[in-house]
Amino acid sequence: MHHMTLAEIARGLADKQFSSEELTKVLLARIAQLDPQLNSFISLTEELALNQAAAADARRAKGESGALLGAPIAHKDLFCTQGIRTSCGSKMLDNFKAPYDATVVAKLAAAGAVTLGKTNMDEFAMGSANESSYYGAVKNPWNLAHVPGGSSGGSAAAVAARLLPAATATDTGGSIRQPAAFTNLTGLKPTYGRVSRWGMIAYASSLDQGGPLARTAEDCAILLQGMAGFDPNDSTSIDEPVPDYSANLNGSLQGLRIGVPKEYFSAGLDPRIAELIHDSVKTLEKLGAVVKQISLPNMQHAIPAYYVIAPAEASSNLSRFDGVRFGHRCENPENLMDLYKRSRGEGFGVEVQRRIMVGAYALSAGYYDAYYLKAQKIRRLVKNDFMAAFNEVDVILGPTTPNPAWKLGAKDSDPVAAYLEDVYTITANLAGLPGLSMPAGFVDGLPVGVQLLAPYFQEGRLLNVAHQYQLHTDWHTRTPQGF
Ligand code: GLN
Repeated sequence: MHHMTLAEIARGLADKQFSSEELTKVLLARIAQLDPQLNSFISLTEELALNQAAAADARRAKGESGALLGAPIAHKDLFCTQGIRTSCGSKMLDNFKAPYDATVVAKLAAAGAVTLGKTNMDEFAMGSANESSYYGAVKNPWNLAHVPGGSSGGSAAAVAARLLPAATATDTGGSIRQPAAFTNLTGLKPTYGRVSRWGMIAYASSLDQGGPLARTAEDCAILLQGMAGFDPNDSTSIDEPVPDYSANLNGSLQGLRIGVPKEYFSAGLDPRIAELIHDSVKTLEKLGAVVKQISLPNMQHAIPAYYVIAPAEASSNLSRFDGVRFGHRCENPENLMDLYKRSRGEGFGVEVQRRIMVGAYALSAGYYDAYYLKAQKIRRLVKNDFMAAFNEVDVILGPTTPNPAWKLGAKDSDPVAAYLEDVYTITANLAGLPGLSMPAGFVDGLPVGVQLLAPYFQEGRLLNVAHQYQLHTDWHTRTPQGF
């Protein structure tokens, strides 16, 4: 049962082959048995899950249908869940029970999805390895000595290990696509504004976007359908109709113009990954796509710009955690300053503190123009590059990451080395564009992802291309040994 995709589960539930309650019990038992090896969950919500499953079964018995009705999922632990711990992977929020549901959580619950738990993540979504969580590192099911990627590493490891079919995640600089690549999943970062950020604990508000992590494009379409849509509670949400993503999966790729940026194939890219990317291009050419070399000349400036903008926004967003209103408070503060200093010093881990310091520095009077303003100008150049490219092509294709998943601890002493691994993903966040990563092969037994980018609101095009690719390849069906 645990091998089923969301699409298969929906058919099985509709045909009454099993109930949501039966499936939920199977998956909860599997999580209890296997998750100790992975550490992919921070909290399990067994009682809620069984209640939601029973309610979904009752709705189906009354004749209701829907692809998510009775489907088991989990939420990254930065989506607020009413009455349930919402930790953001931080000691700061270890004791925080959200007073309301995030819009994404509420929408999926209304569609009948069953929440099995809250998944592990890098603290405040800062990281690419899921090693900065207060609740410990997550392991990659493909090789337990390696990282699963981050910051949505818990969602990725759990779905890859078949503990559940799909999970929510968020992507500020790659945190959906990069763990998808590292664990052989399909993950989609939607257009900025497509999915509501209300109740999603903020890291960098102008970059953050929620989206689905699943094994197939078909399942990403199902989950995205439940997540997307205008939300008046989020002032950056965009009031644009949501298309039927599942209905558009079978469009022909005949004549699809694929752009491959020449800058992607630089010295930093593992040549074995480059080869797999070329293979995926050949597959898409066989399906009718036309490939063209393009250029994104400002790509080299994206990492420095991102690592100014994201920490700057984070330093501002995280100022609300002061020991007064939310989360951790130190023991016996002597005065207000002591309360702030010790609560924040004890509540935040090293990577979060590093970024708050970088961000506060970049925003300070005297340095604002030199760093923050300059980074914003680079951001515009990056966006302009994409706009020019999309005049010529329909999608942009390349690697999701320059290297496969590294060993746990390998980049501990050098945070910048980890930042450099985000080179292919962060440009989409800077420009607000949708991006998808899908399985494209293996290097040394570790999964490799290919990334597709599209113009604003063309999530349907990305899912269509990925689905057609998955009908003609079997990388996404491979299962990690032991799971
Ligand atoms: N790795 C990037 C960072 O650490 C992206 C994280 C994310 O997308 N949440 O900021």
